[in-house]
Amino acid sequence: MMYDYLIVGAGLAGSVLAERLHSIGKNVLVIDKRKHICGNCYDYYNKAGVLVHRYGPHYFRTNFEEVKDYLSQFTEWIPADYRIRSYINGKLYTFPINRNTLNEFFGVDLKTEEEAGVFLNSKRIKIKNPKNAEEQVLSLAGQEIYEAFFKNYTIKQWGIDPKKLNASVTARIPIRTNTDDRYFNDSFQAMPKDGYTKLFERLLKGIEVRLNTSFREVKNKIMYKELIYTGPIDEFFNYKFGRLPYRSLKFKFETYNKEFYQDWVQINYPNNYKFTRIVEIKHVTGQKIPRTTIVKEYPCSRGESFYPFPAPEAQQLYLKYKNETEKLKNVYFIGRLAEYKYLNMDQVVKRALDLFNQLIP
Ligand code: FAD
Ligand code: UDP
Repeated sequence: MMYDYLIVGAGLAGSVLAERLHSIGKNVLVIDKRKHICGNCYDYYNKAGVLVHRYGPHYFRTNFEEVKDYLSQFTEWIPADYRIRSYINGKLYTFPINRNTLNEFFGVDLKTEEEAGVFLNSKRIKIKNPKNAEEQVLSLAGQEIYEAFFKNYTIKQWGIDPKKLNASVTARIPIRTNTDDRYFNDSFQAMPKDGYTKLFERLLKGIEVRLNTSFREVKNKIMYKELIYTGPIDEFFNYKFGRLPYRSLKFKFETYNKEFYQDWVQINYPNNYKFTRIVEIKHVTGQKIPRTTIVKEYPCSRGESFYPFPAPEAQQLYLKYKNETEKLKNVYFIGRLAEYKYLNMDQVVKRALDLFNQLIP
């Protein structure tokens, strides 16, 4: 049997491409080394009947109309306001920083955006082109905000000095002068009504999927014309230039016999606690049930590869591997692990749709 496409990874990149190629009659095989589809977006009902996200909270949001329209063929949506808080010295503060945070944290009474802008200006450290994650926050919000909200969280999350991380890491978080307290600015923010796993089941409907199957096991046994690879790029090349660094997480789930454990979907702990955040995903899944499950996230360097490392040295090593990919024919690298990029779900869907258009012009 000769497949048109072998797709390694049943995560978002692999599943979207599988769906697109299958829809035009291509013969596709998807494999995944895990025992489930859905990659890191995987969700499931635990023993207490609570719908949980296995690999950290997945808040869907996008500014790409095309991505929203595409996924909407496979799911209905529940509007979601992702509102979180940050726990500092026994108090919960609005996060990302907005005018209310400034008022509460500094004990001031800023009434307008202009006043908040002037206040932030007085706190800012003038740095022309912020080169790293620390400078990025200092240049927008100053030392006190950096120390209280960002420094320890970033050290815990990445295990290194924020000076050694790209500015793009903390630039993910807006600093606002208005009172908007949503986590993100995107125009569309919603959760798939029946969860992510159901969405993926619909994407992969009618497509052959083999779970518990790694690329290494099958690469010489399966015949295919083209390969779409969404696993770690260094693994593909047998780590010939050395291993790319990844940051991992340990998830500690706790279930409670009450409707809610905390008032917010996520509380961040930018202090001495070993975990970075406590997530209670039930706040945004819309589930009505008298029990709840929370998850504490403990960052670590060993374990599953969740976060490509957003730092210059790691990027240089990645470029060596990327260079190797250019020597291959009919092999495409896409997704968070294969492109070694800190990509959100909508960015991955966009790249998958773009690759499809490139493959099938
Ligand atoms: P993955 O989902 O990692 O899928 C890759 C798949 O390939 C995996 O299933 C893996 O098992 C399989 N695989 C790897 N190697 C092999 C191999 N050798 N053989 C066979 N199979 C293999 N994005 C958002 O938009 N919003 C969020 O709130 C958000 N929160 C996140 C929280 C955490 C903790 C993490 C880690 C990520 C988060 N993301 C979020 C990002 C989101 O998970 C990714 O954008 C998306 O899942 C990437 O899809 P992918 O297909 O590239 O990778
Ligand atoms: N961050 C922080 N304090 C917080 C939240 C985030 O310092 O309370 C920093 C941290 O470096 C983190 C980055 O901002 O890695 C991006 O945060 P985000 O919540 O987007 O991280 P993700 O959900 O991708 O883990």
